[in-house]
Amino acid sequence: MLGRRKFLHNSLLGSVSALATNHEWQTGESVVGKPIVISTWNEGKPANAVAWQILQKGGRALDAVEAGVMIIEDSQNCCVGLGANPDRDGIVTLDACIMDEHFNCGAVAFLERIKHPISVARRVMEKTPHVFLVGAGAQQFAIAEGFPLEEQKLSTNAKEAYENWLKKSEYKPAVNIENRQHGPYAPLQFENGDWNHDTIGMVALDTNGNLSGSCTTSGMGFKMRGRVGDSPIIGAGLYVDNEVGAVAATGQGEDVIRICGSHTVVEFMRQGLSPEQACKKTVERIFKIKGAKAKDIQVGFIAVNKKGQVGAFALQKGFTYAVKSKDAEYLKDAKFLI
Ligand code: ASP
Repeated sequence: MLGRRKFLHNSLLGSVSALATNHEWQTGESVVGKPIVISTWNEGKPANAVAWQILQKGGRALDAVEAGVMIIEDSQNCCVGLGANPDRDGIVTLDACIMDEHFNCGAVAFLERIKHPISVARRVMEKTPHVFLVGAGAQQFAIAEGFPLEEQKLSTNAKEAYENWLKKSEYKPAVNIENRQHGPYAPLQFENGDWNHDTIGMVALDTNGNLSGSCTTSGMGFKMRGRVGDSPIIGAGLYVDNEVGAVAATGQGEDVIRICGSHTVVEFMRQGLSPEQACKKTVERIFKIKGAKAKDIQVGFIAVNKKGQVGAFALQKGFTYAVKSKDAEYLKDAKFLI
């Protein structure tokens, strides 16, 4: 309401009145509407550009969120996908999930040697009676579906990071490791310095007004073998309710799982909160649980509602997110609690 009032005020001033016709406007974000896509962290920007190719042609949000995150899974020596940091035994294990506008969902976890876990998750959703396949079973299914079994080999950057980590072998995830350019836990760097990350979450609203979301990760670097975070868990790392909104999470997976993070944000939106307010309220819940330990972790949420209003919020400074719509393309620092 406030946003609309503000907008009306602005239009009376005469500068933006022509933009009112096709878009909803809301406090906290300058441009919203449909189609629209929002993704986590800096690599959300190139991922959004790919998703946009589908959305702008009137394509389905589900196709957009799959294709968008695939290019990040694809990148060599990257952060998400097979080029990412391994677990503490030196093996890269991948987790992903996807959800469409009909509550269909699919997920894979602890998957090795398959380049596109997000697409395997989609096949689980579309071709099996199940929601979640893990480990050897997920890999067996992927191979049966024609996904090539890649070589078991660390990327150059991951090898260096792992060798460095082995010197102390301490599991201490750094806050905002996803966007850090240097340091013992995040030595991965890319030509443009932007793609330094281990998770991407993406949610989108298409021209037909349908929502979908995807989330794919290598999980926390140097995690225990077999550890699975929030990212492939429907309701934690991702949730979509086509009547309300779509949400994805990033950060310390354990703390997202214990409050069913993405589902909680959707429920707050259902109660009438804006996407940003809903993300904030959920972050506050984590803060309340963690107390003084909250400063040691990062959690961030991105959200889009049925009207195409977007928002994000994080526990700490440093969480970035990317938005693309017809009238806007930007990377932004999320607001934060502590
Ligand atoms: N949420 C991911 C996990 O816990 C990590 C991340 O978002 O960076 O595996």
